[in-house]
Amino acid sequence: MDTTFKKNLLSMREGLLRGIDENIKKGSSSDRDVGDFYDAADIEKDRQMMHMLGEREQTKLKAIDAALVRIEDGTYGECEECGETINKKRLKILPFAIYCVKCQSEIEQKLKQKSEETMEDRLLYKDISMKDMETND
Ligand SMILES: [Zn+2]
Repeated sequence: MDTTFKKNLLSMREGLLRGIDENIKKGSSSDRDVGDFYDAADIEKDRQMMHMLGEREQTKLKAIDAALVRIEDGTYGECEECGETINKKRLKILPFAIYCVKCQSEIEQKLKQKSEETMEDRLLYKDISMKDMETND
């Protein structure tokens, strides 16, 4: 397996964590008690670090960690859905990708359909309740 992917992942991870460090430093000028923060147990510190990450960064960090585990397992670069090898070009752009392009777009399509269905349901209910109100008048 090409080690560039591992290097990419590690540097992405480092970049993310450096971002948190900066957040903590920025936080020091606010009402956050930095002394207490750094004295806290490591687990607590980790928890707080995660807390300081946005949801997007957390998801990304988890995806990066999972990809690193897959490199160790030797399953890195395999699509989790169909088991096909993920295109290397795709992995260069998205080193933590778990699906091949085909499966990814299918999954996205399904999610999109799902959200459209929910939207239709909502519109339907809205319509019904409006009609109800009319008849009640
Ligand atoms: Zn696939």
